[in-house]
Amino acid sequence: MTLTADHPATGTPGGAADYIALDEHWSTHNYHPLPVVISHAEGAWVTDVTGRRYLDFLAGYSALNFGHRHPALVAAATEQLGRVTLTSRAFHHDQFGLFCRELAELTGTEMVLPMNSGAEAVESALKVARKWAHEVRGVPDGTAEIVVAASNFHGRTTTVVSFSTDPVARAGFGPFTPGFTVVKYGDAAAMAAAITERTAAVLVEPIQGEAGVIVPPAGYLREVRRICDEHGVLMIADEIQSGLARTGDLLACDHDGVRADLYTLGKALGGGIVPVSAVIGRRDVLGVLRPGQHGSTFGGNPLACAVGRAVIRLLATGEFQRRSRELGAHLHARLGELVGAGVAEVRGRGLWAGVEISPGGPTGRQASEALAARGVLCKETQDTTLRVAPPLVISRDELDRGIDTIAEVLTR
Ligand SMILES: *Cc1c(COP(=O)(O)O)cnc(C)c1O
Repeated sequence: MTLTADHPATGTPGGAADYIALDEHWSTHNYHPLPVVISHAEGAWVTDVTGRRYLDFLAGYSALNFGHRHPALVAAATEQLGRVTLTSRAFHHDQFGLFCRELAELTGTEMVLPMNSGAEAVESALKVARKWAHEVRGVPDGTAEIVVAASNFHGRTTTVVSFSTDPVARAGFGPFTPGFTVVKYGDAAAMAAAITERTAAVLVEPIQGEAGVIVPPAGYLREVRRICDEHGVLMIADEIQSGLARTGDLLACDHDGVRADLYTLGKALGGGIVPVSAVIGRRDVLGVLRPGQHGSTFGGNPLACAVGRAVIRLLATGEFQRRSRELGAHLHARLGELVGAGVAEVRGRGLWAGVEISPGGPTGRQASEALAARGVLCKETQDTTLRVAPPLVISRDELDRGIDTIAEVLTR
């Protein structure tokens, strides 16, 4: 494309179309956003460049569990911006140890490895599990295996897409990292059968978010735990999307009374302000890392830790878990009424739902566009599933308004 001086990608942007033209021209096309250009946000609401307001029913894929610009989180970030933002891990800083202690205490774990993005946390957990297997379990170096579930989503790095079962996520990106075995999600017997003497760990999402908010059969996580104990392998729960109050519990595994050996956290851990992720878990496992063996320039930086500590304080009140449970019961009851009337199935837990659109209805994309046109921002996951994940600060009236709009768009 040749750019002329009056092309929207060159001049000063005016309307939404100009901003979209900038994105289209100057950025890679690895997303397909809805045509809404947001310039402000507060709580459960966002405002676009034309001044139009939308109810946020996606919450940054659960990165915005506390809503946009939660005052306690903005205050913590602002306070820290006035002190120190980055030291690198070459030096200690006064937020780091407190963040790690408070996160471990909140989650009942022993040790914390702070990173930035979710994919990095998953990568880090895989590295730790392999090292632990080689050093502690006596698996010959370079042969550790990790069992994962089909239709997983754990991020976008080369190793992580190596065990994705989504052809779009993989095509053209090989060669891939070996050492992964994929089994059917929700099938504990298949998982047990995949474990060998070289298995280091199993990695599962307690509820699969990107796959369409897939809740495994009752007892699945307990079975996974039992299988891991029986074979002496690690259970790694990826709680990046399901954790931190989204399902009505602090961690989705808590619902089943299951403790993983390692958890990956991300998304809401940064309060929607900064990227903060972590691997948390057993001291004897995370303890295998020695100086120089793993790291990140920004991981555990002072700003991230200060915001993360404020997130932990919000979660420690239990208010968001309670809101997710109560509003989630309402959400599922109301969405359930649509089943058979444009909706094939509703899955999920807490303030988190995968709404499966009936055959013959709009695609997920069309439904998302229709919702946006009516002032509700939602996004499809898979072709025919709407992912509903409002910020946990949403009021019951706002929630009803969004559900009414979904009903309007899907009911037939
Ligand atoms: C979003 C997500 C990730 C990846 O997080 P990024 O911050 O996008 O790298 C990993 N696992 C799960 C379950 C997720 O939902």
